[in-house]
Amino acid sequence: MTVGSLLRRAWRQSVGRLLMITGVSGLLGLLIGQFWPMLALSAFSILCWHYWRLNRLLAQLYQRRRLREIDGRGLWDDLEMLLHRRQSEGRARVRRLLGIVRGYRHAASLMPDAVLLLSRDSDRVEWCNRQARELLGLGPIGHERGISDIFEGPQVAAWVASGQTEEPLFDLPCPRDPSIRLSLRLLPYSSTQWLLVVRDVTKLMRLEQLRRDFVANVSHELRTPLTVVHGYLDILDTDDYPELEPMLEEMRKQSARMSQLVEDLLTLSRLEAQEALAQREVVAMTPLLTTLKREAQALSASRHRITVEDAADVDLLGSTRELHSAFSNLVSNAVRYTPTDGSIEVKFEKTPDGGVMLSVIDSGYGIPAQHLPRLTERFYRVSTSRARETGGTGLGLSIVKHVLNLHQAHLEISSEVGKGSRFACVFGPDAVTERARGSDAA
Ligand code: ADP
Repeated sequence: MTVGSLLRRAWRQSVGRLLMITGVSGLLGLLIGQFWPMLALSAFSILCWHYWRLNRLLAQLYQRRRLREIDGRGLWDDLEMLLHRRQSEGRARVRRLLGIVRGYRHAASLMPDAVLLLSRDSDRVEWCNRQARELLGLGPIGHERGISDIFEGPQVAAWVASGQTEEPLFDLPCPRDPSIRLSLRLLPYSSTQWLLVVRDVTKLMRLEQLRRDFVANVSHELRTPLTVVHGYLDILDTDDYPELEPMLEEMRKQSARMSQLVEDLLTLSRLEAQEALAQREVVAMTPLLTTLKREAQALSASRHRITVEDAADVDLLGSTRELHSAFSNLVSNAVRYTPTDGSIEVKFEKTPDGGVMLSVIDSGYGIPAQHLPRLTERFYRVSTSRARETGGTGLGLSIVKHVLNLHQAHLEISSEVGKGSRFACVFGPDAVTERARGSDAA
């Protein structure tokens, strides 16, 4: 039966019942000569009955009791049946949703990583899986705590508040045991919740440390034998055997390349071992820019036009040694990857945010766009043959990136094949200090 016909039937039944009651009581009233009082009595009884049904229904709804399933005999029964149906549908929907939520939670509890559901508005943990309780030492009431209670210090709470879903937080000490290292990733779970996935990366960090130590040790061990070989090659006299000279020349070149490689690897290992600069000194930019120009001229041997522009009129705060190494890597690249008669420009200028930028711009070969994101990886080269020809080790830009990271600065690269490249080291306002007038003369 359709809803319309059900309603019509209920309406007919109710009106029929009303007519029957008033009819019978009217007839009874006529018989006993009390027509109007009998009619009034029946109307009052009908009203009372309606109030009683209304009151019963309200009581059931207030007490959240389950309504009976009745086959409709009138409007009230139909109303109860309709409400009963709504209640049943609502309960079924809640059961289904609960099943889905239980399913998700079960899946989350099977995940090897610790998972926490955080509220976006407050720093409250709404739910967490067993792994989270074990790894973070939360105990059974873990979900009632806030994220700033779990991780000491403002770092994690600020990171969550900023909604950083792109970059994970890496190598954090575990609140339960600082020797356990954690990586944290934030995922947008819903419009009101974040999903925080916490992973134990202790083994990974140990392996990474092993790799670093291995590279540093091997490079260190290679340094002495290479110096000896290099030294003997330099003093070898080939006057009596001129035919050996080309061979010796090649050996000298290769041993110099190996020494440079070892030096670069040692520099990288040293940079990687530092989490932050031990101390920041004033880096006098005027003498540094002069040195860069001299180095570029020496390397270029008058094959390029070299200009240095010092427009910033400020100095940097950081490590002179590391910054010199980074800048001269960029200058040396510009010279090596720019053909004869090209131009190289070093610019030191202010940025709109109050920071500064040192750019090295060349009119060289340029780099195809697909290589740009990977340029700062170790040993990454665009053209291996050209890099070898020019004496590159493939570690220069990696060193630059590490040095800039230590200075909370970053490298911006833009390039066009056949037109040239621009490598810019961008420093924030914190790295800038007023130039001491005496430094110009240094
Ligand atoms: P390399 O020692 O091989 O120069 P780098 O790490 O300094 O290593 O540079 C990585 C690669 O980036 C280089 O092999 C080269 O292909 C490319 N590259 C770097 N600087 C420039 C530049 N100024 N112009 C063109 N290509 C460049």
